[in-house]
Formats: sequence, structure tokens, C-alpha cells
Amino acid sequence: MIKIKLTTLLLCSSLMAGCASNMSTNARSPALNDNFSKTKALFEDIVGSEHEKPEISKLNLFLTRMPKGGDLHHHYSGTIYAETYLDWVKEKGWHIDSCNFKIITDASKADPKCQTLTVDELLKQDPLYRKLLTLWSDKDFSNHFHEQVPPDSNFFNTFGYFGAAANVNQNIGVKIIKARALAENVSYIETQYSRTGVKSKHLLSDSERQQFINTLLKVDNQQDANATFDSIVEAYAKTSHFNQGVNDFVEEVRALHEGIDDENFTMRYQTYTARVQDPLQVFTELYSGFLATDKSELLVGVNIVAPENNHVALRDYTLHMYMFNYLSAKYPHVKKALHAGELTLGMVRPKDLLFHMKQAREIAGANRIGHGIDIPYEQDALAQLQDLKENAAVEINLTSNEFILGVSHEEHPYLIYEDYGVPMVISTDDSGVSRNNLTNEYVLLATRYKPNYEEIKDYVYNSIKYSFMSKEDKAKNKQRLDTKFSQFESEMAQLYEKL
Ligand SMILES: [Zn+2]
Repeated sequence: MIKIKLTTLLLCSSLMAGCASNMSTNARSPALNDNFSKTKALFEDIVGSEHEKPEISKLNLFLTRMPKGGDLHHHYSGTIYAETYLDWVKEKGWHIDSCNFKIITDASKADPKCQTLTVDELLKQDPLYRKLLTLWSDKDFSNHFHEQVPPDSNFFNTFGYFGAAANVNQNIGVKIIKARALAENVSYIETQYSRTGVKSKHLLSDSERQQFINTLLKVDNQQDANATFDSIVEAYAKTSHFNQGVNDFVEEVRALHEGIDDENFTMRYQTYTARVQDPLQVFTELYSGFLATDKSELLVGVNIVAPENNHVALRDYTLHMYMFNYLSAKYPHVKKALHAGELTLGMVRPKDLLFHMKQAREIAGANRIGHGIDIPYEQDALAQLQDLKENAAVEINLTSNEFILGVSHEEHPYLIYEDYGVPMVISTDDSGVSRNNLTNEYVLLATRYKPNYEEIKDYVYNSIKYSFMSKEDKAKNKQRLDTKFSQFESEMAQLYEKL
């Protein structure tokens, strides 16, 4: 992309007069008599040439109306807005602690030194309500001076604030997500819905658990890890609670999904573990997650989430990859998207920037990499790029990367992936926390990197191609996208004539 633009620039500087007239003729050529060419010309007019500022309002209009296929890096609880969670707190009759802005589900346990506010009481005190929004989302983080925690903490802490509300009304939540998706022409969501809820403490005694944890923490190769995983699987086979927990989760997703899919929209689900827990619980969630995904047509993949720079996440990183490796051999059809390389220089010691993406691919066999920001620092980065190009895709989350890691614009490895031809999908991560949407991710992309219209369309089609849907669902979604693009380009061709 960049190389082509440089060539154009060089030709222009050597043939200045002719070049200028060529450019203006190209912009409104009478030869543009098909909808695709007119849409492409309109898009590239709006985005402008390399040194021109894009016309953002027109870009918003264009990209809101553009079919965007799927959002593949999407967290259920991080997608619902804080205001909606507050509605649910009110509906439940819960309260808000005026000191720490956390949800009080049981008023008898409230801190007597603080006020226990109903949602209506909170709403009457605008400064308190505004303060709550800054803690339950990233709202107003950057636009005024106030006491604040580091941005990555602000981001991840939000889940602790709205957590209780995120665990209720999920059937309403997925309908809200669907309505929002349709409003911005997104027709597929692959959401990281929930952990399975299976807990090692309900399956084993404290001493058994501690023994497994101690053994896991000493493991330093795949073979030893597998022997321990075998023993845990054997122990879980002795209790009916493990399978019951898996079946309950499969049923929960089935019930949640009722009435969601239709001719305009498809939703599928991932389950995950949080990488900051003890290794036995991580294994328990992954094992139950793989089994649930193997059993359900609606669950299509397994993920690993939570801050990658957390000290437990760093300590156990390779052990977690061994878990994925072991479970992949047991359940070879289960797809994996792993948050990997959501790190940058200064955030962790340099040694932790060398291998996360590599192990996510080579040991865990990730089909997609979430974020992939540390690629410039990884060992064997070039071999990894070739591998990603041939065998995987990277999920790009521009807003989240800028907020959490401070990585944006020319520093973002989008430029490396683009030049190398690594397949990418554009996604939101947590649009409720970030208070954005998928359209805005495309606006950022177009503004910063000025891809041409064909490249934008490639990203949209990648979101179906690299999704974890079944073959039949992919074919259906691809056909739907073709139809939607045909309608969109017809509409944009008319706009091209008017603007
Ligand atoms: Zn994420």
C-alpha cells in the first residue's frame, strides 16, 4: 500500500503538470460507470491523498453504511455500556457504594461509613454519576485532569465494577448487541461470552488442589505437563460434577441464543479462561471449555483473556500454552483464538516480549492471534510473519491498543502485517468500555493508514473467512455479504454523483 503511494508520488513529482491533471481526471472520470468504481472513487476522495486530511464526517457516513461482516474480537461483558448495566442494577434493586462506586447486591453488607445509593439517588447527583462512568468505562479518561489510575488498570478494572450486573440479563444483553450490530451493518458477532463456570474447588479437596497446583508450577516441558494434565482429567472423571458443569454451560448458551439468528444476523460464542488465576483453575476452565465447544454448535472457539502483563500471567504463560497443546490433541476440531502479544516495550521486562506470539502459534496452535502488538520484538519475528501469513490471522483492535498500551499510528504493527500480507480482521475488543463501535475502528484505520477500498473490503471478507463458523454458516454469511455490498455500492454510486 505504502509502496504504491510512494511510486505515485515520485511519478507526480517528475511530471508535475500532467500528473495534477491526471489526478483530477481520475477523481471524476466519465469512465466510472459501474457502482464499484464509483464507490471506490468516493471512498478515496473522502480519505484524501497521503498528505490530505480525511473528511471524517463523510467517512463516518460511508463506513457506518458499509457492510462490515463480522466482529471477531468481541467481549460480551465489555460490549454492554455502563449506562445499561446501571439500568440492570436498578431493576435488581441493588445499590451503589458512594465511596468506591461498586455494586452492592446485599445492602446489609454495605460499609456504614459510606452512603448506600439507589440508582435514582445516584442519578440525582450528577458529579457522582459522571465519576461512576469514568470507573465503569474509559469515559473522560483523557479529556480532563483528575486523579486516575494508569490507563491499562482503568480499562481492566471496569470489569470488576460492572461484574455483578454483567452476570444477569445476558439474554437481554445479546439482543442489545445484535440490535447495535445491525444498526451499523455488522451481520456476524463472535463474542467471548463467558467462562464455563466449572470450578476446581467444587471438584477436589483443598489438599488435592494444592498438590496439583504445586506440581503444575514445577512443570517445565510439555511431556511432564501432559502427565499432570492426565492426572487432573482422571480425578475429574471420578466426579459427575465436571460433566454436569459442562452440560449446564452448553444448555445456558443454547437458551441464551434462542431467537438470535435470522436472515440478517448470526451470532456464535467463545468460552475462555482468565490467565491471572491459579494454574489448576485455568486448566479446569480450558478443559471444560474445550469439551463444551466440542459438544455445542453455538460455541465455536476457546480463548484466554485478562492482562498479559499480570505477574501470574507472565509466570505461567508457557504452562498455559502447554494446556492448549494438550487439549488440542484431545479435541482437534476446537478452534482457538488467543490474546497474545498484547504487550509493548516498557510494560514488561524485555525477555517477556520475545516469545508470546511464537508460543501461541507453535505450542498452542492458535488459529487467530488477538492483538499481536509485540511482533517487532519477538524472536524469529520474520519466520513468525511467514507462518501467520500462511496459517492464521491477526485481530486488530486499534482503540484498545492505543488506550491500554499507548501503541497507535506508525508504531502499530498493522503496518508490518499489511506490508507482509498477514491476514487481518478489524475488531472492537470492548466497545462498551471504550465507548466506540466497529465503524469507528474502520474510521481509525482509514484515517491513519489510508488503505484503498479493495483493502477495506478484504478486511471485511476476512471477518467471515477467518471466523470460526461452520462451513455452511460461512457460505451463508459470505453470500449475505455479497448482496449487502451490491446494495451498498449502488447507494454509494448515487452519493458519488451528488457529493
Ligand atoms: Zn480482548
